Amino acid sequence: MTGGPDLQTRLRALPSVDRVVGLLGEAHPPTAAAAAARRAIDEARIAVRAGSAPPSTESIAAVALSLLGDDDRGLLQPVINATGVLIHTNLGRIPLGPQQLRAVERVASGYSNLEYDISSGRRGSRYSHATKLISSLTGAEAALVVNNNAAAVLVTLAALCAGKEVVISRGELVEIGGEFRIPDVMKASGTKLVEVGTTNRTHVGDFEKAISADTAAILKVHPSNYRVVGFTAEVAAREVARLAIGRGIYFIHDLGSGLVFEEAQLHEPLVASALEDGADVVTFSGDKLLGGPQAGIIAGRAKLIDKISRHPLMRAVRPDKMTLAALEETLQMYLRGRAAELPLWQMALVPVEELEARAKHVAEELGAGMGAEVKIEVVPIASVAGGGSLPGSELASFGLAVSMARRARRSCNGLFAMRTLPSSHV
Ligand SMILES: *Cc1c(COP(=O)(O)O)cnc(C)c1O
Repeated sequence: MTGGPDLQTRLRALPSVDRVVGLLGEAHPPTAAAAAARRAIDEARIAVRAGSAPPSTESIAAVALSLLGDDDRGLLQPVINATGVLIHTNLGRIPLGPQQLRAVERVASGYSNLEYDISSGRRGSRYSHATKLISSLTGAEAALVVNNNAAAVLVTLAALCAGKEVVISRGELVEIGGEFRIPDVMKASGTKLVEVGTTNRTHVGDFEKAISADTAAILKVHPSNYRVVGFTAEVAAREVARLAIGRGIYFIHDLGSGLVFEEAQLHEPLVASALEDGADVVTFSGDKLLGGPQAGIIAGRAKLIDKISRHPLMRAVRPDKMTLAALEETLQMYLRGRAAELPLWQMALVPVEELEARAKHVAEELGAGMGAEVKIEVVPIASVAGGGSLPGSELASFGLAVSMARRARRSCNGLFAMRTLPSSHV
């Protein structure tokens, strides 16, 4: 069926890009429309070469329209989080509030002193931003901001421990979801992992025996997304710190969530307490329980922070000005006593009675517009912090259980949690 004048005639019957674009309507940006038309014609050409009759211009335009639709659906866009998971990594972790966004706009819509020291009139460092605020908030001697917490752990290990051994409890060899597995990160940083203890129990003697002349540090990793329950033993941070000092090695504590909001009274280590307990360096995320933008924060002893800041990897994991602007504003909100205004805490701290009232209101509004076959019930549910924070803890909440009579049922039955619905939808 291929080749010969017959094929040439059929190929010539395919429309031009302009003709297909002409059928797509005005709504699409010209470049995207032309690209989609070209792809649709290419598909038709392949089909014709394989022996098909040339499709009509209308059907090629329909293919182009669906390609444009696919492109649009692939774009980053808002969604409603009705999952009951506050810090949902797949849904962008945590929304930023108006103050944080204004800070981004103020800095990013013009030039800024990102790497310029206004007081001396000389070149400055992007690593100087947010650091004083972090110190004020946590008591750390110094701090450093990187792209995310995975990067914070990576660059800390690479700068302080490369080529040497790092001791860690088997109960803390965690996977955080996605591709962040502590053993892999340690390998990537050029350090040698030395596992001690067992999954459920690790004693200080296990660490003592494992430390040698080749040991650079003990790494403690907060079990962010699981809990070891039952017959367990963990070496407390203070004890790890005492041992590390005695043996002249570093104590690095990856806190994961990095809670700084004491008033929230959550069962999650406070950054300040972790430093008080003797960690030389702590690392944590900007967009978990801090409620800020995606970032990784490294805080601790000034000498070590300085060493980390000089590591060549820093350039690869450095934060953007928009991140720094949103992070500075976030930290300032804590320092000004306005943390409760951060979207994270607004959602986490809503009284449960208000969630119930909200659920009833939404149920009424929704129910009014639906037929008798749809049943909407207000039900008590448990929400979770998510995003590797507060494993095993639940936040009492309310949700809507939606069910449909058998005839009308498709895949619409579901449960929608009030706590995470943006207030513009309630
Ligand atoms: C979440 C988490 C990480 C990774 O942090 P990202 O900000 O997602 O890069 C690392 N360690 C622990 C303990 C965590 O909870």
